[in-house]
Amino acid sequence: MAITEKELLLPALYLISKNDKLNTTKLIKSLTELYKPEGHDAEIISGRNDTFFSQKVRNLTGSHYSTNKMSDYTGRDKNGYFSLTQLGTDYLNKHIEDLDYIFNTGFSYKDKANVTNKLSKESANNKLLILDENVTVSEGETKTKQAKVKSRSTQLRDAAIDYFSKTTNGLKCCVCGFDFYKKYGARGKNYIEIHHEKPVSQYEKEDITVTIKEAIKNLKPLCSNCHKMIHRYPKELLSVSELKDIVKSEESKNDN
Ligand SMILES: [Zn+2]
Ligand SMILES: [Zn+2]
Repeated sequence: MAITEKELLLPALYLISKNDKLNTTKLIKSLTELYKPEGHDAEIISGRNDTFFSQKVRNLTGSHYSTNKMSDYTGRDKNGYFSLTQLGTDYLNKHIEDLDYIFNTGFSYKDKANVTNKLSKESANNKLLILDENVTVSEGETKTKQAKVKSRSTQLRDAAIDYFSKTTNGLKCCVCGFDFYKKYGARGKNYIEIHHEKPVSQYEKEDITVTIKEAIKNLKPLCSNCHKMIHRYPKELLSVSELKDIVKSEESKNDN
């Protein structure tokens, strides 16, 4: 999928908030590093120095600066460095946790683009909730959006545990086969970590059961060790099959 200019607005604000010396050229560079575009967006436009991706950033800050509302959310000083207006700061703050999660988990270009596409389409009365695999529900949660994210993330995890416990493999780590119940008895019963291979999100008004049904394809049961290895380097998420290959190749070394 190709990203649109409008979808790049929020990520641009995110980067501007972290760096007070961003002009258009540096914003292009930073957004490219953040997304690592693939496919059509990564191609160079013939006869130009721009990729399709960088051309969109250029449009956002240039010819479409006001149509995409970039001019409401940012200002520029005489050197061309961007800063956030109050409106920009407020808009960014609503999504700062979502963006931190999406851009620091090592998701693919397509997955990152998908989420920013959904974020750009949310409305005041239908917010996007990004479900988190590391959620722990705490008492007395005050922020409504966070509370909803937590309760749905927990529902998703519980549904996944229920789902995997009914498969032939049961609640075993899908990489190394570790079984918490077998190892720890009652203390480990029904325990497994649930990994999100792709980000899971839904609009507030969408049905959680539909989200769960869709998301379960991209969830994986893992033991704590294998899970940690997958996330060890935040910007390089391993896939389950990549980690399986590593384990297999290390085991074969030990066999010889
Ligand atoms: Zn494992
Ligand atoms: Zn994970």
